[in-house]
Amino acid sequence: MSKHFETNSVRISPSKSSQREHSAPIYLTSSFTFDSAEEARATFADEIEGNIYSRYANPNSSDLIEKVCAAEGTEDGFATASGMAAMFGSIAALLQQGDHVLAARSLFGSTHQLLTRVFPKWGITSTYGDISDYLNWDKLVQPNTKMLFIETPSNPGLEIIDLEWAGKFAEAHNLILVVDNCFASPYLQQPAKWGAHIVTHSATKYIDGQGRVLGGLILGKANLMKEVHFFARHTGPSISPFNAWILAKSMETLGLRMDRHCSNALTVADYFEGNPEILAVKYPFLKSHPQYEIAKKQMSQGGGVITLDLKGGVQRAQRFIDKLQMISITANLGDSRSIVTHPASTTHSKLSVEERAQVGISDGLVRLSIGLEHYEDIILDVERAIDSSK
Ligand SMILES: *Cc1c(COP(=O)(O)O)cnc(C)c1O
Repeated sequence: MSKHFETNSVRISPSKSSQREHSAPIYLTSSFTFDSAEEARATFADEIEGNIYSRYANPNSSDLIEKVCAAEGTEDGFATASGMAAMFGSIAALLQQGDHVLAARSLFGSTHQLLTRVFPKWGITSTYGDISDYLNWDKLVQPNTKMLFIETPSNPGLEIIDLEWAGKFAEAHNLILVVDNCFASPYLQQPAKWGAHIVTHSATKYIDGQGRVLGGLILGKANLMKEVHFFARHTGPSISPFNAWILAKSMETLGLRMDRHCSNALTVADYFEGNPEILAVKYPFLKSHPQYEIAKKQMSQGGGVITLDLKGGVQRAQRFIDKLQMISITANLGDSRSIVTHPASTTHSKLSVEERAQVGISDGLVRLSIGLEHYEDIILDVERAIDSSK
């Protein structure tokens, strides 16, 4: 293994088959054979390493896991069928009835549903802390608090949590620190460096990067991953070999793509900052971002998502979206194609105005996932839509 992300992401690959292929094949097989009854016994007993059944592991999922572990600096991992299976599995595998989760309020919508609607069914409760008030989070820790669950940058508010602080806080209170690292991708930020015990991903976003397949990852310390493997092996959230193959291939270009996502996003954010039709432009690497210094400390670049708070509320935001000619209207992000979403009327429409305000979503806020088109075309499309939606 190299110390460089670029080299690992293209050179880590499954051992060659008897065909001596150069590019990893797709191992579409549900199970694997043994040469003898003894080999089967020893493999099941974990005395020798070997594939058994694709619900447990498969060469394509192992390839993906190895590449992402190398990038994240994590010891072990498990690949899941979607990002949400990873979020669910990271909590379900490690907590028990009666345990409590402290979480940052700004969470992906379905993660919020897990914590507030799904886990309470099994006696696992949670409390939210506001990122702006993190110096007071000590008060939110209960005797049964076992986990700190955070997401940074957050979706869609782009709030940044200080990972160094989170690592120390988790250590002081003996909590398992779980970080959803989806928005930054393993290329821009490695939470394990700051003390995260578990890192989760929706690989659907930047790791795929081309809007094709769903996938997720749970990565982390070997002792915790043992519990995750047990849980996953017997509950079955595993990724399909085909999707794992796509995602492992995508890891080869993640760095190149992220460089362009980030430079495009910074250029677009910079261009529109100060536009009289926009109340605020938010991007982690703009100096005006409230947590700019923290973003600089823990991310190598600002990521591919920006938000524009348009004057004129819901109607203006919707008119703006309808005037866009190139940028796609869809719920995904991290795609090669630029995407617009209006959280207040779509992903976060179930929240009250106050709840939305608490996570930084105003009525006129639009989220732009900046793609790989030439930045001049992205700027042109956005500018035209701003002007014609007044
Ligand atoms: C999309 C997303 C998820 C969920 O991932 P899926 O692959 O859609 O299941 C979780 N967290 C964040 C931050 C996301 O953006």
